[in-house]
Amino acid sequence: MDAETTTIESSTNRQQQLARRWIDGFNAALASGDAEAVSQLFAPISFWRDLVAFTWNIKTVENREGVRDMLAATRDDARPVVFSLAEPASEANGIIEAWLTFETKVGRGEGLVRLRDGLAWTLLTALSELKGHEEPKGPRRPLGAEHGVIRGRKSWAERQADEARTIGFETQPYVLVIGGGQGGIALGARLRQLGVPSVVIDRHERAGDQWRKRYKSLCLHDPVWYDHLPYIDFPANWPVFSPKDKIGDWLEMYTKVMDINYWVSTTAKSAVYDKDHSTWRVIVDRHGETLELRPTHLVLATGMSGKPHIPAFRGIERFRGEQHHSSQHPGPDAYAGKRVVVIGSNNSAHDICAALWEHGADVTMVQRSSTHIVRSNSLMEIGLGDLYSERAVDRGVTTHRADMIFASLPYRIMHEFQRPVYDAIRERDADFYAALRKVGFMLDFGADDSGLFMKYLRRGSGYYIDVGASDLVIDASIKLKSGVPVEEITETGVRMADGVELPADLIVYATGYGSMNGWAADLISQDVADRVGKVWGLGSDTPKDPGPWEGEQRNMWKPTQQENLWFHGGNLHQSRHYSLYLALQLKARQIGLATPVYGLQEVHHLT
Ligand SMILES: Cc1cc2nc3c(=O)[nH]c(=O)nc-3n(C[C@H](O)[C@H](O)[C@H](O)COP(=O)(O)OP(=O)(O)OC[C@H]3O[C@@H](n4cnc5c(N)ncnc54)[C@H](O)[C@@H]3O)c2cc1C
Repeated sequence: MDAETTTIESSTNRQQQLARRWIDGFNAALASGDAEAVSQLFAPISFWRDLVAFTWNIKTVENREGVRDMLAATRDDARPVVFSLAEPASEANGIIEAWLTFETKVGRGEGLVRLRDGLAWTLLTALSELKGHEEPKGPRRPLGAEHGVIRGRKSWAERQADEARTIGFETQPYVLVIGGGQGGIALGARLRQLGVPSVVIDRHERAGDQWRKRYKSLCLHDPVWYDHLPYIDFPANWPVFSPKDKIGDWLEMYTKVMDINYWVSTTAKSAVYDKDHSTWRVIVDRHGETLELRPTHLVLATGMSGKPHIPAFRGIERFRGEQHHSSQHPGPDAYAGKRVVVIGSNNSAHDICAALWEHGADVTMVQRSSTHIVRSNSLMEIGLGDLYSERAVDRGVTTHRADMIFASLPYRIMHEFQRPVYDAIRERDADFYAALRKVGFMLDFGADDSGLFMKYLRRGSGYYIDVGASDLVIDASIKLKSGVPVEEITETGVRMADGVELPADLIVYATGYGSMNGWAADLISQDVADRVGKVWGLGSDTPKDPGPWEGEQRNMWKPTQQENLWFHGGNLHQSRHYSLYLALQLKARQIGLATPVYGLQEVHHLT
């Protein structure tokens, strides 16, 4: 054995010893029920993020006081609790990282702890399954066939047909999911695996239409490794950036093979919570027929990019040409040779402008405020590559592992991890950014230079992942009008505040989407929407994400101030990962487990 090998071995031993010592101490303190003793195992500045395992909530507590309060409130319901080291610990930059498994009274979970000077700096605890209600997968997978001879037995298809015929009529779903995009579908699959009777409804004629009906040039902006749905990964030959119709077909296929009760052409018209019976009364229109459903829980998976927002521009009603929101934009084919003004300068605006230019339209982009632009290649290599890429997979970072690593970074300090990423991108693409600035494009890198992902988490808007349109802006193929507000819409176009008129045959309002509690206002009542408050954002006190600090995304995947009402959605990564925790919360309630919620969020903003 050479000296180098000996050094590596002894440092590995030291990491194991330190990790074990911490876990042993943690277990002992948890067993004693002494919340103060547990808190002393955390660094003075520290974060414990819990996904449903201790808090029946999605909650990050901070510092020793936060840990102590949380444990004092939850320990009796969670105990006995035992943590174990899942694999050998590792060390980088003085931080020991250890993957954990654990058991509570009712469930099993996994976690990740980072130790600094022997104390926990970050801890993630995530519930994976409920004891006695494990998913029928792997060694527990169903047999499928029933060997033997059974008189009058029904085939699998007949049983499926029976369920489809009776649920919503003779029996009621325990959960009704309104909205069958990727969010509703992923949740539907999880609920099916957990044996929670549920129905997913969508107003479209086919599952996947949410993507099919978007503008024709759209491809996913996130790469395939980031986009897998639960249970079924995309095959190895799937494109890195899935074209929208392909993802639509995948969702439709998935809905079928995951046995989701998916009602197409079904629109939820209204919903009322019946307090006396703790159920919802939901009126739906299914293929023109009006039905009342009585689910216990209602999940709004109606899309954070689903409620079009158009600012109230003066004169909008007098425009004589065609005008629509970006979500209604059919694609460029009908607009060759036409003058198009696209109001907005984020993802949709760029994609739409580029496709129109490709089809020979005369395009002007109106930029009201600064936009964060990051080139797709740079984002893939520097921003996502360590976690979601072929390179990551080769290093053993599966999508699940990447999800857990991502989840383990507390939102409070996530921007600090993100900043160097965007500093590197800025340096690498300096010429590109200089060229954009030169043509007057207003750029930003987020309120604190933390880039795209923080903007997404905080406000869900304000960026473009560049797949080519920026070059068209730079060479003026797409004309740019920036830094001046729109004064009014005229009969023939858009008048800017500096008096410049932009003549148009078509105006596209790529002006974004409203908060998801707007869906609750439409479907349930303004009162319930207000009780629940704003959906999305962290309370970072940055533009469109007002404080106070919330610590988690508002209202997403966790209990809200309205009993039995939940919100679900987000990008494919979030739909995949957080659908598990939402499904487990629903399952726990279905089987009658006590689910005392620690730290139910308060409402600070209505929209
Ligand atoms: C242009 C664009 C590009 C995007 N690119 C990406 C990307 O590359 N990667 C990514 O992960 N995310 C992307 N997103 C963001 C987000 O992931 C998508 O918007 C995604 O579709 C959200 O999924 P969802 O299931 O939450 O909502 P949606 O897909 O919007 O589905 C909501 C569903 O609810 C239904 N619905 C609404 N109200 C009712 C009602 N009353 N009754 C019945 N049904 C109803 C709608 O018909 C719709 O099908 C993009 C968004 C946009 C707009």
